[in-house]
Amino acid sequence: MISSPTPNVSACPQCDILLQHHETPDHHASVCPRCGFVMRNNRPGTVDKVLALSITGLLVYLPAILLPLITLEKLGMSDKANVVDTVLQFFANEYYFVSFMTLVSTIVFPLMLLLLTFIISLQLKRNHPSKMLARLFRAYCHLEEWAMVEVFLLAILISIFKMIHTANIVFNAGLFCFIALVFVTFGICVVLDKVRYWELLDPTETAPATLLVKENQRLDKQPELTAAQAGFALCLTCHKLLPTTNRSTEFSGQCSRCGEKVHLRKPGAMSRTLALVITSTLLLLPANLLPIMQVDFLGVPDRSTILDGILYFLKTGSYLIGIIIMVASIFVPLFKVVGLSILLCSAHFGMPYFLRQKSKMFRIISFIGRWSMLDIFVIALLISLVDFGFFTSIHVAPASTFFCMAVATTMLAAITFDPRILWDKCSPGSATNNSNTLNQ
Ligand SMILES: [Zn+2]
Ligand SMILES: [Zn+2]
Repeated sequence: MISSPTPNVSACPQCDILLQHHETPDHHASVCPRCGFVMRNNRPGTVDKVLALSITGLLVYLPAILLPLITLEKLGMSDKANVVDTVLQFFANEYYFVSFMTLVSTIVFPLMLLLLTFIISLQLKRNHPSKMLARLFRAYCHLEEWAMVEVFLLAILISIFKMIHTANIVFNAGLFCFIALVFVTFGICVVLDKVRYWELLDPTETAPATLLVKENQRLDKQPELTAAQAGFALCLTCHKLLPTTNRSTEFSGQCSRCGEKVHLRKPGAMSRTLALVITSTLLLLPANLLPIMQVDFLGVPDRSTILDGILYFLKTGSYLIGIIIMVASIFVPLFKVVGLSILLCSAHFGMPYFLRQKSKMFRIISFIGRWSMLDIFVIALLISLVDFGFFTSIHVAPASTFFCMAVATTMLAAITFDPRILWDKCSPGSATNNSNTLNQ
């Protein structure tokens, strides 16, 4: 028997639990009570603020990318570098994958994100929502984590600290524009209220989905009812709930709001994540054992691994920089691989312990993935800056390609993993494995 509609229901994208919709007060966040995922950050005036920030970002973008960041002066010679130089240097040295990763993460995607937020916010301000605009916002949501200007800024600071004792450093206008670009990009992330944007992009659906659920599945009677159990699949991009006619895990449909493919659970999530975790583990071996950088001093080459670079900072007393590089280059990739392996084992064997903590660990893994690119960006800057011919020059070495590929594969592994499977397997009588009782 079908009850009256249960209005204003949404589902958590990380544990799939159905939640009664409550208005989130201004400047407050609503959090999933089961897994701790932040469902919404209510930012009043989000469209105006994002529009203003994206215009500022577009104004500083070209000078930030094209103007020299810093100039290095030594023995009457000087060398300067901008962001484009770093990409070209990798390309000239035939490190195409590293060059490509640097190009997209510091030049292409940051510009695309600024353009997308500008176009979408402007059209929403003019009250012109459209299907095309929703597709563009979907692209924004996917590209967001691949733009890494803040990681590049930290790399600039580390390069400055590395060279400050050996050469005279001049700060150029490009550096200040780049800092402004990082602040603007960070500001957009903080003030952008995605839930509000989706509501504005789809004005036909002002309230969250109205669900028809069976009488015995009312949320007040069954507080841990999942979307899958109630016969709904959640769009992971715009968080719209779609009714599923077929309640098997193979359900596949298209989101009517953002056009994303929607599945009850990500297809092949476990095997894809496992394959990517194994690949990144294998890539991390040559990444750490082979030399990543080569310093030529008076024609004598000296190659160093990631660990050598860290030890150099620790020996010279730059403990903070040494620890930052050690965390970003060694601990973060290791944490990602070990963490994802724990999540895969828990989901496969149904280990129902510390589920909330495991969900939090998954969110940390997704967040920190990009920071591993730090060492690559430091090398990118050093090879552009330190090129004084026969006297001294810095070159990139083979480990950088393996390291870059390891960063990309661990980021993809976090994207392919579906944390809802963890809750399905570990919570008694939960989700899709309960579909038989639902069909009765
Ligand atoms: Zn949740
Ligand atoms: Zn959607």
